[in-house]
Amino acid sequence: MPEPKMNLRKGAKVWVEDKSLAWVAAEITDLKGKQVQVQTVSAKTVLVLPEKLFPRDADEEEEHGGVDDMTKLTYLNEPGVLYNLERRYALNDIYTYTGSILIAVNPFTKLPHLYNVHMMEQYKGAPFGELSPHVFAVADVSYRAMMNEGRSQSILVSGESGAGKTETTKLIMQYLTFVGGRAAGDDRTVEQQVLESNPLLEAFGNARTVRNDNSSRFGKFVEIQFDANGRISGAAIRTYLLERSRVVQITDPERNYHCFYQLCASGKDAAKYKLAHPSHFHYLNQSRTYELEGVSSAEEYMKTRRAMDIVGISHEDQEAIFCTLAAILHLGNIEFSPGREHDSSVIKDQKSTFHMQMAADLFRCDVNLLLATLSTRTIQTREGSIVKALDCNAAVASRDALAKTVYARLFDWLVDKINMSVGQDPNSHIQIGVLDIYGFECFKHNSFEQFCINFANEKLQQHFNEHVFKMEQDEYRKEEINWSYIEFIDNQDVLDLIEKKPIGIIALLDEACMFPKSTHETFSTKLFQNFRGHSRLERAKFSETDFTVSHYAGKVTYQTDTFLEKNRDYVVVEHCNLLASSKCPFVAGLFPSPPEESSRSSYKFSSVATRFKQQLQALMETLNSTEPHYIRCVKPNSLNRPHKFENLSILHQLRCGGVLEAVRISLAGYPTRRTYSEFVDRFGLLAPEFMDTSYDEKALTEKILRKLNLENFQLGRTKVFLRAGQIGVLDSRRAEVL
Ligand code: ADP
Ligand code: MG
Repeated sequence: MPEPKMNLRKGAKVWVEDKSLAWVAAEITDLKGKQVQVQTVSAKTVLVLPEKLFPRDADEEEEHGGVDDMTKLTYLNEPGVLYNLERRYALNDIYTYTGSILIAVNPFTKLPHLYNVHMMEQYKGAPFGELSPHVFAVADVSYRAMMNEGRSQSILVSGESGAGKTETTKLIMQYLTFVGGRAAGDDRTVEQQVLESNPLLEAFGNARTVRNDNSSRFGKFVEIQFDANGRISGAAIRTYLLERSRVVQITDPERNYHCFYQLCASGKDAAKYKLAHPSHFHYLNQSRTYELEGVSSAEEYMKTRRAMDIVGISHEDQEAIFCTLAAILHLGNIEFSPGREHDSSVIKDQKSTFHMQMAADLFRCDVNLLLATLSTRTIQTREGSIVKALDCNAAVASRDALAKTVYARLFDWLVDKINMSVGQDPNSHIQIGVLDIYGFECFKHNSFEQFCINFANEKLQQHFNEHVFKMEQDEYRKEEINWSYIEFIDNQDVLDLIEKKPIGIIALLDEACMFPKSTHETFSTKLFQNFRGHSRLERAKFSETDFTVSHYAGKVTYQTDTFLEKNRDYVVVEHCNLLASSKCPFVAGLFPSPPEESSRSSYKFSSVATRFKQQLQALMETLNSTEPHYIRCVKPNSLNRPHKFENLSILHQLRCGGVLEAVRISLAGYPTRRTYSEFVDRFGLLAPEFMDTSYDEKALTEKILRKLNLENFQLGRTKVFLRAGQIGVLDSRRAEVL
C-alpha cells in the first residue's frame, strides 16, 4: 500500500509494526530527529522510522463494535482493516464488507440464529448495505440484479482450505432456494436435488487434510438456472481438477476420500464385498487416521445412500458404484515380487492373489486379463506388437494408475448423473453461478497441484482486479468526477509466463512430457534458459531444478521432480480394454470407446495442465458474461477453534484474496468518501467563520478544504472524494481545535 502522509505530532494515535502481532496500537510520545518515539498499548516504548507508522483513528478506541464496511474506516490502511475484522469477530460479527466485497471469517462454531428462515425473510429485498453484512445479502443482491437487469450473475467464493467456502456456497444455495424455490409440495424439486448433491459430491470428492476435516479436493461451479418468473428451473454443475493422487497415496494425518471409510463401516454391505476395517487396506492405512471427530462413518454411509436416492441413482447403479470402490481397495492390496525373468514381476503371495481375485470379481472382469494388464504392457511396433514384462515398480505404478483412472471416471460419472437428474432448462436465459474453488496455496513443498491451483487463482485475480477497478470507475462516473489517472495494476505478465504459447511454463512442460528422454532436470533447464532475467521467475536457491514464481500473493517455490509424471494423463489402452470388457454394464459404461488400436504406443499422452487451462478459459468466458460478486472467506486460526484470531495469517489471506489489493486500488484513487453533510458535521468546526454565511454544504466543504491548503480532492454530486492521507490532515487539525 502507498505510504500515507502521516501527520507526526506528539499524542498522535498510530499503528506500529510488530513481528508477532503484525501491528500494535501506539501513541507518539516524542520526535527524535529522523526517528519517532512511540508508546504501545502494552506500555512498551519503541523508536521507529516514520515510514513504519500508520495513522489510527482515536475514536476507534471508544467505538467497540467496528464498522460494517471497511470503506467507512477513517484510515483505510492495513492495520485498520485487520483491527476492524478482529473487533467484529470478537462479537461474532463474522461478515464485513469492503465496498461490495464480502469478507467472511469462519466462526468455527454453529451460529444458527444467523441462518434461519427469519433471517432470510429479513434480507429478502432489503437494499444492499442497509442490514448487517451477510452472505444472504450478497445472494439477494445477485438475485435482484438478475431479475431487474435480466443479466446472469456469478458469486465467486474463495479462500484457503478450511476458510468456509463450501459452507458459504451451501448458504447461498439455501437462500436462492428460499427466494426462487417452487411452492412446497412439489416432489423432488431442482433445488432439493442440487442441495442434496452436496453430500454426494462431498463423499466422493472431499477428504480430511491437515487444514480441514472436510476439504473439497476439486473445484466446483454450480449454475442455477431461473425461468422468467425468477423460479429455479434447472441447474448444472461443473467440476475442476479432482485430486487423483489421493486415491492411492496419503500421509498421516490426512485421509483418502470419505466414501471409502463410509463403505468400510457399512456393515452388511462391507461384508458382501469382503471389506474390513480401513487398516487392512493399503490405500487407507498409509495414514493412521481412520476416524473423524464427531462423525460416524456408518451414518454418513446412510446419508450418501439417501443422497443417491434423491439424485435418482438406481439401486443397481448404487450397487455397482460401491462394488467399484471395493474393487479399488482390493486392487491396492495386490503386491508384486520380482519374477524369474529379468525385469518382470509376479503376484507376491496368497494374500495378494486373493485380493486380485476379489478385484476381478468386483470389476466383473477376467482375473487373468487383470493380471496381464497389471504386469505387462503391449508395445506396438512396425513389425507387430510385443508384450513387455513390467518390473515390480512399474507393476505397482500400473496398479495405481488403474485405480486413479477408475476413480476419476466414477467421479465424472456422478457429476454427469447429478446433472442429468437435476435437469437443465433449455429456455432459461438467466443464471446465478456459484464458484467454490481452492484458494491460493503456498506450502513448504509445492508441487504440480499447487502450480495449477495458483494458476487458477492468478486468472481469478485478474478478473477481480478488472472488476474492482471498474466498480471504482463507475462510482466516480456516477459522481461525475475525474478518474482518468487511476493506475491499473495487472498480472498479465505472470499469466503469460504460465500459459503463453509456444513458450510458457505449461507449453514447455507439455513438450517435456512428449519426449521420452526428458527429465525434470531437462525441463527446468529449458525453463531457466527461456526465461532468463524474467521478473516473475527465478531459480530457487539451493536447488538446480526448483523454480520460484512471484505470484500476486507472494513468491511460491515449486519442486519439479514429479511435474512430468503428474502432468501426463496416460490413458493406458490395456486399462481401458480391461474395464470395457467388464460384464457389469456400469463399469463397462465408464470406458465407452477403447482408444484406437493404431496408436504406436499403448500410452496416449494428454496434458493435465493444458486441459485445466482450457477448462479455466471456459470458466473465465462464462464469468465474463456475468456480473460478479465476491466473497472472501478467511480462516481465523490454524486450530479450527472459535474466538482465536491470528493476525499474521489473516493478513496473508487478505493479501491472497485480493482484499488488500482492492484497498490499494481504492487508495490509488479517492479512498475517502463522505457525503457533504457528514463532512460538514465533522469538520465544520475547522472553519466556524463560514458556518453562518453559507447553508450550501458542498460549497462549505470546498471552503474548508481550501482553507487547509488541500489539493486534488474532488467534489462529486453528493459526496466529497479525498485522496489518501487527506482525512488525516483534517483529523489532526480537528484534534488541535477540540
Ligand atoms: P473450505 O470449503 O473453505 O475448505 P468449509 O466450508 O469446508 O471450508 O469449512 C470448514 C469448516 O468450518 C466446516 O466444516 C464448518 O465446521 C466450519 N464453518 C465454515 N463456515 C461456517 C459458518 N458460516 N458457520 C459455522 N461453521 C462454519
Ligand atoms: Mg470446500
